[in-house]
This record gives sequence, C-alpha cells and structure tokens, in this order.
Amino acid sequence: MTATILDGKAIAARLRAEIATQVAARGAAGAAAPGLATVLVGDDPASAVYVRNKHKACAEVGMHSIGIQLPVATSQAELLGVVAELNARADVHGILVQLPLPAHIDALAVISAIDVHKDVDCLHPENVGLLAQKGRQPRFAPCTPAGVMHILQVASIPLAGANAVVLGRSNIVGMPLSLLLVRADATVTIAHSRTRDLAAVCRAADVLVAAVGVPEMVRSDWVKPGATVIDVGINRIADPAAKSGSRLVGDVAYAEVAERAGAITPVPGGVGPMTIAMLLSNTLRAAEAETKEPR
Ligand code: NDP
Repeated sequence: MTATILDGKAIAARLRAEIATQVAARGAAGAAAPGLATVLVGDDPASAVYVRNKHKACAEVGMHSIGIQLPVATSQAELLGVVAELNARADVHGILVQLPLPAHIDALAVISAIDVHKDVDCLHPENVGLLAQKGRQPRFAPCTPAGVMHILQVASIPLAGANAVVLGRSNIVGMPLSLLLVRADATVTIAHSRTRDLAAVCRAADVLVAAVGVPEMVRSDWVKPGATVIDVGINRIADPAAKSGSRLVGDVAYAEVAERAGAITPVPGGVGPMTIAMLLSNTLRAAEAETKEPR
C-alpha cells in the first residue's frame, strides 16, 4: 500500500484564501480589519522567525498586526502591563505571547492575564477548560491541534468511533488535540514517555498522531495497515548530503510508514503550514465575535 499524502501546504493555502475573502467581506460591510498583536520577549532567533511569519501571514489576508518586542530583562510586572494595554485596545482582537518566555517570568501568570476573548492561542486555563468540558462551546481551539483536525476533516477521515492514539501530552499539542478528538467522537488513547509497549499501543490506532519531538520514532511496524498517520514533529537532523548540512524530519519514519499507512502528512508541508492558518482563523473568529456582541 502507498499512502495518500495529506498536503497541509495546499490545505493551508486554501484556508488562507477563504480567510482573505471573509476579511474583505467584513471590510466591505464597514467592520474593522481583524487585528493580531504579538509579544516577543528576548531575542531568540527561532521565536523571531515564527513571529515574523505570523505578521507576514496577517498582511497577506488583509489583517492588521502589531508586533511588540521587549528586552529579555523585561520584568513580569512590565509584561503584564503590556498585556493589559493590549486587552484594552479595540483594534486588537487576538493576542499572542510568544513562548517560551525567559525563566524569570511565570508564563502561566502572563497567559492567564490575556483577555479570554482575545486568547487566540487558546492557552488560557478558562479556554482550555471549555475545550475539556462536555456540552460547552469553546471560544477557540489551539492552533496546531486545530490544524490537525482541519486536515482530518478536509481528507474526510472518519473519526466517530475510530481508535485515535495521540503520542505526546503537552499543553500545546498532545493534550488539547486529544480533547478535540474526543469532541469528534473518537476513542482516544494518550501515550507518553511512561507508556508501556508504545509500538503495540500505536498499532491499535486507526488514526495515529505523533507529537513527541523524537526524530523518526514511529516505524512502519508501529502502524496498522491503512491507518491515517499525522506527524506533528519538526526536528532538525544532521545531513552531510544537504547543502545546509541539515534537514527537517518529523516524528515518523516517513518513507517506510508511507508504504503501510492509508494516509500520511509529510514533514515539511504537513501540519506545519496549518498552525499559522489556524491562528488567522482564530483571529478572524475573535473579531467576528466582537462585531456580533461588542463587549
Ligand atoms: P513537548 O516536548 O512539550 O512534549 C513531548 C511529549 O512527547 C511529552 O508528552 C512527552 O512525554 C512525549 N515523549 C517524549 N519522548 C517520548 C518517548 N521517547 N516516548 C514516548 N513519549 C515521549 O513537545 P511539543 O508537544 O511542544 O512538540 C512535539 C513536537 O511537535 C516537536 O517536534 C515540536 O517541534 C513539534 N511542534 C510542531 C508544531 C507545528 O506547527 N507543526 C507546533 C508545536 C510543536 P512526557 O509528558 O511523559 O514527558
């Protein structure tokens, strides 16, 4: 069997085009452009690239964005002050504090200070709580897990009653994704570093999601023939044959698993491009909610 490739790059491009159309329609109806504010503390080069890409993506769909860059020595009180100002701004519908924060800052205190209606990363404990509670309507879903769900939906992968295994239980990917899969009526197993016989657990999956950060950990004999395999991992490994001396791989041994799975996301070009598209989608959603019910 050779798996169908789930092309996240193309799916994300279509979603961004749809968002651009909706943003333009809002503008034509006289509503303000959705606005995203990012806050970056310190000068971590990888974080700076992520933030830059988010602003570029906003501009491409007609959203406005504000980038606040603070020195690494910024105190927690100063950062909380910046968040409070952004909470109060009418032209800011979404606030994203880029993680990780420097060690002297309590990230949970900062995330908890973001207005829940502007928490487009969906990390505020109240928003995570809405995601976890049956019968509640979450305001947002966290961007990377929402991106995975969007790929599964576009590819018409059946989830109701399916066995889904999520490898990883982080706050940002594994745990919220497991909640979203439960909401979609999958039977979910969450596996982690203390799970016994991971290979056997994974082999029971109709839908297997890897979000561990271990290069090519999932091998073909971990995968049920025909299963859907979603690879969230982004790992840079040395490759003397590559011009740059390195290349990106996922948490799944792509070449061999693609011979056994029914459908698979590549790395790069799978889940990665979805994350920013879902951030734009959440920012538009926040702006629409504000237009419908101004606070
Ligand atoms: P974390 O390091 O926060 O969490 C990793 C999880 O994997 C933990 O739950 C950990 O278990 C589990 N784990 C680690 N090693 C093993 C192992 N050997 N066996 C079983 N379980 C293991 O990572 P993230 O969730 O933030 O990210 C995961 C991957 O996804 C990374 O490669 C990251 O780069 C990528 N990523 C990609 C994004 C995208 O846009 N595509 C966005 C965010 C992340 P335990 O809890 O027991 O420690």
